[in-house]
This record gives sequence, C-alpha cells and structure tokens, in this order.
Amino acid sequence: MSVRTKIILLLVPIIALLVAGGLYFLNKGHKKVVVENEALQKEVEPQSLVSDGVKLNDEAEPLNDIVEEKIEEAKEEEKIEKVVEEKKDEKEDVKEESEEEIDFDIKNKLVSWGYTKSSTRTIDTIVVHSSYNALGGDEYDTDLLIKEYKEYGVSPHYLIDRKGKVYRLVEDKNVAYHAGVSETPDGREGVNAFSIGVELINNKEDEYTKAQYSSLNNLIDYLEGKYKMKYILGHDEISPGRKTDPWNMNWKKVDR
Ligand SMILES: [Zn+2]
Repeated sequence: MSVRTKIILLLVPIIALLVAGGLYFLNKGHKKVVVENEALQKEVEPQSLVSDGVKLNDEAEPLNDIVEEKIEEAKEEEKIEKVVEEKKDEKEDVKEESEEEIDFDIKNKLVSWGYTKSSTRTIDTIVVHSSYNALGGDEYDTDLLIKEYKEYGVSPHYLIDRKGKVYRLVEDKNVAYHAGVSETPDGREGVNAFSIGVELINNKEDEYTKAQYSSLNNLIDYLEGKYKMKYILGHDEISPGRKTDPWNMNWKKVDR
C-alpha cells in the first residue's frame, strides 16, 4: 500500500463525517424555521433563507435572525398591501357615488308629432312645465297625457311622471312645440328654437312628488353637462299673462 493510498483511505471517513455533520446542522436549522413560521410558510420559503447566504455549517442562530427579518418584511408588505387595498376601496366608493348622481334612467318614448327636425340648433335654455290628462280617466296617466299632447300637436322633450320616471319624447336636437309665444329675459322670442322643454305631471292643486324634484334636478344636471345653459325658467316666466305653469313649483327645491 503506497503512502498516497493510505492518506486517501484516512481522508474518506473524515470527509464522510464532516458531510454528515453538516447535513445534521442544516436539517436542525431547517426544522426550526418550519416550526416557528408555519403561519408564514406560504410567503417565506425556508429554502430561500438558505440561499440568502447562510453557509451549510453555520449554527441555527443566524438563521433565526434572518427568519425574524423575513417575518417583519412580510408583515410590512402585508400592511402596505392592506393600505393599497383600502385606498382602492375608497376610490371605488367615490366613483360609485358620482355615478349614482348622473346615472338616472331616461326611457325613450319618442313621438311622431309636436316637433320640427333640426341638427344645427344651439341649446341654452330649459323651460319647465306642468300638465295633466284633462280628457277623462286618470289625470296622472302618462299614456293618456301623451295622447292629449297628440290631440294638440304639441310635445315636450322630456316628461317626468309622478314616480319620477323620465321619458324622452323628442330628441334634444329637434325643435319641440312646448313654449308657444314666448320671450326670454334677454329679449329673444320664439323660445322653442333654443330650448329644451320639460313637463312634470301635476294638476293645479297638488304638490310635486319628492321623486319628481329629484328627477328634475338629475335631468338639469344631465342637460347642463351637455349644453352651456343660460336659463332655467318656468313657462310662466317666458309667457307671462298667457301661461301659469309649472303650477305650485317650489323653485327652492330646484337647482337653477
Ligand atoms: Zn307649459
């Protein structure tokens, strides 16, 4: 047996012992990490701790430090995520609120009379009216009232029923016949040409419903978003002496 062979034979068990010892310590540290951090196992994998620079033969002590660090980091991240989520929720709330304000229903019920087609007019006035079905039957029936408009060959652009439901009878761009002989405070006659007519269903004795005021304000908001409005006026204000509607209108409840 040569000297070289003897040395190799001696070294083999020593290397084997060192490797076994190293594996033992590594395993010990590994187990500790798993036990102490069950709750965080998903966020912090023990494997990544070892690869973060811990040598195989090191004691479990520095591993614990790193584990604690990782736990702190994970907690911090969780906190940040929570704050980000909360901010997101806040933003969504604000969005919902603002959508609620302008998102009201307009149901199309376009009529074939009571207007002249146009595509070039400028709109800067809203005229508010009131009317009811005076031809027999339910005074507040929407279809009967529209039938009455047909008999007279007139129509507003919008009609708000007692429950606050908004119907579109004529498209904004067209000139609807709702005002008749009329004049705005700045001296312009023939108000139909540059206005939007809004009828609220009401007789001469009753008050408007809360839903009607709410829908009227939503409609005004909606129209002011589309056109640069100069006036929001009652029919009686543009045709004084001839017209008295909108009857019993409480203008304090209208945004104008
Ligand atoms: Zn009127």
